[in-house]
Amino acid sequence: PAPAPRRPIRELPDELISQIAAGEVVERPASVVRELVDNALDAGATEVTVKLLAGGIRSVVVEDDGCGIPADELPMALRRHATSKIASLPELESVATMGFRGEALAAIASVAEVALLSRTAEAAHAWRLDARSGELSPAARGRGTSVEVRELFFNTPARRKFLKTEATELAHCIEAVRRHALARPDVSFAVWHEGKLVEQWRRGTPEQRLKDVLGEDFIAQSRTVDAQVGPVRITGRAGVPDAARARADQQYCYVNGRYVRDKLLAHGVRSAYEDVLHGSRQPTYVLFVEIPPERVDVNVHPTKIEVRFRESREVHQAVRHAVDAALAASRAVPAGDGSA
Ligand code: ADP
Ligand code: MG
Repeated sequence: PAPAPRRPIRELPDELISQIAAGEVVERPASVVRELVDNALDAGATEVTVKLLAGGIRSVVVEDDGCGIPADELPMALRRHATSKIASLPELESVATMGFRGEALAAIASVAEVALLSRTAEAAHAWRLDARSGELSPAARGRGTSVEVRELFFNTPARRKFLKTEATELAHCIEAVRRHALARPDVSFAVWHEGKLVEQWRRGTPEQRLKDVLGEDFIAQSRTVDAQVGPVRITGRAGVPDAARARADQQYCYVNGRYVRDKLLAHGVRSAYEDVLHGSRQPTYVLFVEIPPERVDVNVHPTKIEVRFRESREVHQAVRHAVDAALAASRAVPAGDGSA
């Protein structure tokens, strides 16, 4: 076939650039929840409330009691590549916050109706910014931020068609909060759907949080993981082989506090179970990997769900060893007696 007639090279309009970025970052309401809760935690929140309508499709509101955003910076929060979290390459390479790309709010605002409501400790009252109109008006709330995201994908109907039922989207939203909640027992979380409280996890000890989020059974059927291998520290809990499930729905891995889905880590865990788990049975676990930030690159994927380790073999072995040691301890004691 003849080549298509050539068109001149042009820069894309801002809005379209953001919509393209949104394609990577915002897949469904749960992605909005993930990004907004990330921001709340980065702001130092101790209480995060997520309010959903229609599984988050009609509305996601995340409220926090964090540091807030000054009124004059509210428009900046919505701009692409605008962030308060890093300012230089060395800071990128040792980033300690969940966010740093300055993309999420801009991306979300390009595919939904967004409003920011925020108040800093110094402000006499809160301010509300409507993203579409740019209108800034006085508002009422205590210190912290509320981000309102309505009618996700209203302007990108093709993407809206990919959404599942409200019940499914709600389940994904709750799972997104659960992932944060497991890693942050020092923060209270609540999830509301259609005006009803559907999940609540109050601030407490790490042990209490695991129990609240995953249930007594998970605790009874798992063993403490606590190992230091070189620069890598691994803590958490690994399920006894008997607790393995048909589905991989209780596998939580964190790197420096960030939930990740990492093949290398999953494989490391799996290899610790290789002699005790057969077929496609899926182990249960919650593992927190702590590693000096310069040894891990989190800037691999826009959603930061993937990471790259500088010394991946070492990390793999560390995970395997840590889980192995926990399981060995469980072989010495009969499973299910509740001891750690
Ligand atoms: P990033 O988190 O990568 O910086 P975002 O687009 O998610 O990018 O947010 C942009 C900026 O808006 C943040 O850097 C932060 O300064 C501000 N911000 C967003 N959400 C909140 C919040 N809940 N509390 C305080 N500041 C916030
Ligand atoms: Mg962010």
